[in-house]
Amino acid sequence: MSQPHSSNDYPAVAGEDMQSSVVKPGLGKATTSGLPSRPAITTLLRKLAGVVGQQHVLTQRASREQYAKSTLPQGTTPLVILRPDSLLQVSRIMPLLSEAGLAWKAISRGKNWGYGDACASQDGAVILDLGRMNQIVEINEELGYAVIEAGVSQGQLYQELQRRKSALMMDVTGAGPDASIVGNVLQRGFGHTPYGDRSSKVSNYQYVTPDGKVLHTGFGKQFFEPDVAHVYPNGRGPNPQGMLQQSDLAVVTRMTVWLMPRPDEISGFAFRLQTPEQFQQAVNAVGQLRQRGTIDSVVHFANDLRTLSSRRELMAQFPGDEVLTASDRNSLRDQGKVAPWNALGGLYGTHQEVKAKRAAIRAAFRGISKPIFFSKRHLALTAWAVDHLPPINALKRLRHLQHTMTDVFDLLSGVPSKAHLEGAFFRHRPESGQVQDVGLVWFAPVVPMRGPDVSQLIEAIEPIANRYGFDLPVTVSPVVARAAVCVTNLSFDKNDDLKAKQAAACYREMKAVAESLGCPVYRSSSIEV
Ligand SMILES: Cc1cc2nc3c(=O)[nH]c(=O)nc-3n(C[C@H](O)[C@H](O)[C@H](O)COP(=O)(O)OP(=O)(O)OC[C@H]3O[C@@H](n4cnc5c(N)ncnc54)[C@H](O)[C@@H]3O)c2cc1C
Repeated sequence: MSQPHSSNDYPAVAGEDMQSSVVKPGLGKATTSGLPSRPAITTLLRKLAGVVGQQHVLTQRASREQYAKSTLPQGTTPLVILRPDSLLQVSRIMPLLSEAGLAWKAISRGKNWGYGDACASQDGAVILDLGRMNQIVEINEELGYAVIEAGVSQGQLYQELQRRKSALMMDVTGAGPDASIVGNVLQRGFGHTPYGDRSSKVSNYQYVTPDGKVLHTGFGKQFFEPDVAHVYPNGRGPNPQGMLQQSDLAVVTRMTVWLMPRPDEISGFAFRLQTPEQFQQAVNAVGQLRQRGTIDSVVHFANDLRTLSSRRELMAQFPGDEVLTASDRNSLRDQGKVAPWNALGGLYGTHQEVKAKRAAIRAAFRGISKPIFFSKRHLALTAWAVDHLPPINALKRLRHLQHTMTDVFDLLSGVPSKAHLEGAFFRHRPESGQVQDVGLVWFAPVVPMRGPDVSQLIEAIEPIANRYGFDLPVTVSPVVARAAVCVTNLSFDKNDDLKAKQAAACYREMKAVAESLGCPVYRSSSIEV
């Protein structure tokens, strides 16, 4: 909880911290020479306190340092954090900030770990933390949507759907129950279900422009919201929805998120790919099945390191940050029972529909790999066997598999879970166990969904990562039918300055090489923010 404080202590704090400059890996010097004068800031803070309440204007050093935390050694330090709780407050704040000429940044829950965290791109900005605007305004069972404020978390919407015994399910990401939905959509983040391409499953953004105007996208209106605005994203003419994504042009206070009718049956499928040829054939096959609609969810192809990244007991055999040798990786694969590439996805529909999809997948993968299919019932049976039968070795191994498959099945079923955050601690686990205390840089280029293109990209970037001293967990996810996002990450001890500098240099080189292959990143990483 934030402590009430007096804005009078601000100038001393500013004198101490704000005239300094900070070097961030990958960025030049961000200086704060453009700040208004101290008396002007003191007056502004008083006005802002009049809008949001003194206790929601955070200027103390401790609060500002908290918001400066980043998965890089050094984030940017804000001038002040504002915590509005209503549209009216946001619409009053914005003109004040614009008049003062201050840089600002809105965050929904601020869990943008590895992609910029809760930090602005420069020191001395104003952070608008919308975490208190967390009303679930409406859940419409008939038309399948929820109207949510920016601060609603994945866990909160999930709990509300459970409480209402809703027939709808949401898409979830691996970022855990505390991450937002609105912030993730604005970043064009993605999940796992048929609604995994999240920014295409929303409408009717309510947003506040820098001069304080309240606007809506599509057919939405400020005082009259026809139902159609919730279910049809466009109005007539241009739709600013796309312009509000990855732009920081306005503060989005609310949006309509579409929810999926919970299908009669959800079946997971998984297959292992031992050779580069099998991998390429499987990418092609999934691309075709996605285009035809047989697979309508986001399939994830994970390399061995990604698949094992959250298996602490296995990774603990390799402390330190030396790049794993080929024999280390072979040994890990043997122990973890994984292949160089492992794919996983979900099938949704009636029993008959899922059965037909299974048959189509078996046919498409004949000669490539044998898919296995699993359901909630299979996982429950496995759990029973693990708990009730004598603990022979095979069952001990099954226990791990059962846990992993259950975590994965949660994602496929729209259940947010903290389990996947463990992947952030690949090769280095901070004592706190908090994601923001680890060094983490995502690098996520987009590639056409063709086997040779995907292989070419990975074969180009992985040696670069290795040369800079990083292993490269990789996931290839066809977020849309024709293209995949190739999510990779550099993980390190962020207290190791050299390693952090190497991560920045490595990121830049991988980015240049990927771009030369026609594969730009889909979303800025913390290094660039
Ligand atoms: C282990 C791990 C797994 C992850 N898995 C996934 C995953 O499966 N999919 C995925 O997409 N990401 C994933 N992430 C990345 C990230 O944590 C999530 O994308 C997370 O949802 C972002 O945090 P947030 O939702 O709190 O958004 P925020 O941090 O609140 O917002 C992100 C950015 O969006 C903009 N923004 C936010 N709110 C507003 C607003 N109201 N108005 C205007 N602009 C705004 C700002 O630029 C802000 O910096 C993962 C991270 C980790 C560490």
